[in-house]
Amino acid sequence: GPVRLSRDKHGIDRRLVSRHAIKVCEVLNQHGFDAYIVGGAVRDLIVGLEPKDFDVATNATPNQVRPLFRRARIIGRRFQLVHVVFGQEIIETSTFRAPSSGNQETDEHGRILRDNEFGTHEEDAARRDFTINALYYDPLKEEVIDFHQGVADLKNRVVRMIGDPETRFREDPVRMLRALRFQAKLGARIDPATEAPISRLAPLIEHVPASRLFDETLKLLTCGHAMDCVHELRRSGLMKSLIPLIDRIFEEDGGEAFVEIALSRTDARVRAGKPVSPSFLFAALLWRLVQKRWSALAAQGMQRNEALIRAADSVIEEQMDKLAIQRRHQADMREIWLMQARFERATVRSIWRMMEQPRFRAAVDFLQLRAEAREVDSVLAQWWMDLSDSNDERRSQMIDAWQ
Ligand code: ATP
Ligand code: MG
Repeated sequence: GPVRLSRDKHGIDRRLVSRHAIKVCEVLNQHGFDAYIVGGAVRDLIVGLEPKDFDVATNATPNQVRPLFRRARIIGRRFQLVHVVFGQEIIETSTFRAPSSGNQETDEHGRILRDNEFGTHEEDAARRDFTINALYYDPLKEEVIDFHQGVADLKNRVVRMIGDPETRFREDPVRMLRALRFQAKLGARIDPATEAPISRLAPLIEHVPASRLFDETLKLLTCGHAMDCVHELRRSGLMKSLIPLIDRIFEEDGGEAFVEIALSRTDARVRAGKPVSPSFLFAALLWRLVQKRWSALAAQGMQRNEALIRAADSVIEEQMDKLAIQRRHQADMREIWLMQARFERATVRSIWRMMEQPRFRAAVDFLQLRAEAREVDSVLAQWWMDLSDSNDERRSQMIDAWQ
């Protein structure tokens, strides 16, 4: 059976637990069901990080859960779960589920296509990815239930797969990206047996649906330790299936330094709780290649704007062979890049037009990033930043003084 840890063993401070998540557990308990806070929230609470959101696992079915709350809706078609809504906060409440049993539908690489069986509490723990993600917290008893020695792994900072690592990575190759993310986020190491098959299985990532892959890649780049993630992605071979152009960028003079500056700014924003825009992030990651092609085309005598457009389009097109970036993000990346040429040779008229562009502010931030990488004059970058921060009257004065 599972290990039950009391307050002094797990150390969770109940005051840091969402009162809405506690409420959901309380109500389910009062109606005779088992209910626990589960997954990332328990993991983060034990190591003293602030959880992003709170999930609840229960033995009640969605149809039993929904009527117990004033604002609750069942979502999902294949595997249903309940969103219990409290103002801004949603507590995702799912019924215990059984793990893969071998008679599930998989693709030819072993990837699970459907899994929709209810299960026991123990089975629910077994179908989760890593031991550190399979912890259940009972907020009423203040007890952690641990089927797979997850608390010990967490305290030792080890990311360990539940079950046979290769089988579990084949079932869902995204778990490889998740392993890297938790390693970086927790300052952990991946257990050797879990780590071993990753390089060999890395190409399987290409069979994952594009939108899910994009989301997971974005999570890696915005986990607060982006550069560690980039190094690990390259080392494991996973980067080849995501952003292969990064390898070429790192080979360039100053290429790695530029990515490093961009990602440390991203990390700082994440840690300050500020949003990070995917288009800005990808624009920064790929910029050095755009810039290289831009200079090469311009050196061949192509007009500078035209050269930048060509360079931007060729880089986006190549990137799309692997990790697909949604069209709206692509459009924003292009706009951020194309405005870089205009900052250098703006005229009084074009400045006013540029300020009307929706991505103007992002493009100015991007210029600042380039200044930090000593690619453009920092006085020029600061001028644009000041312009962007000013009111219309001050802007007129600044633009009048622009030569
Ligand atoms: P975070 O929210 O910080 O990204 P998390 O661990 O909460 O991390 P979620 O994607 O929110 O990640 O998933 C919640 C829980 O569901 C996980 O803790 C894990 O137990 C389980 N889980 C999520 N993705 C998978 C997966 N691909 N395979 C197995 N279990 C998973
Ligand atoms: Mg989560």
